[in-house]
Amino acid sequence: MTDCLFCKIVAGEIPAIRITETDRAIAFMDIFPAAPGHALVIPREHHDDALGASDEDLAACMQLASRVGQAAVSHLGATGVTFQSLARPDAGQTVFHLHIHVIPRVAGDGFAVPWPHAEGDLAEIEGHAARLRSAL
Ligand code: AMP
Ligand code: ZN
Repeated sequence: MTDCLFCKIVAGEIPAIRITETDRAIAFMDIFPAAPGHALVIPREHHDDALGASDEDLAACMQLASRVGQAAVSHLGATGVTFQSLARPDAGQTVFHLHIHVIPRVAGDGFAVPWPHAEGDLAEIEGHAARLRSAL
């Protein structure tokens, strides 16, 4: 896609701090890092987000993200990793080429999960599960 920022990174038309790559995916550093070592993994092929991507590219991206996360643990001192992929504007996505954030974590880093962990209504949860089940 010609006006896609991450397609331009894939093509080498704009600079990126690359880490590693495979035949399907590329890992590079996020230049607005949420934490030290924050990386992004993207497919070479354009997909807007994880909702529209092929199984092959989803698998390739998650496999590479895991490898980058393992390197953050073994070589950056991370003691945990957040893997995150936002899909569509209402989820907060700002670059519309599928990407997985690989964010190295340490205890007490203040990177809080954005929900309260309050117990839900079980009947409502069962209802949502039934609707998802019927779709799958
Ligand atoms: P999201 O908000 O989930 O769509 O994530 C987009 C990410 O891309 C953000 O974390 C940005 O910091 C990052 N980003 C934007 N432009 C660049 C760039 N030129 N190189 C590396 N990362 C970028
Ligand atoms: Zn793209």
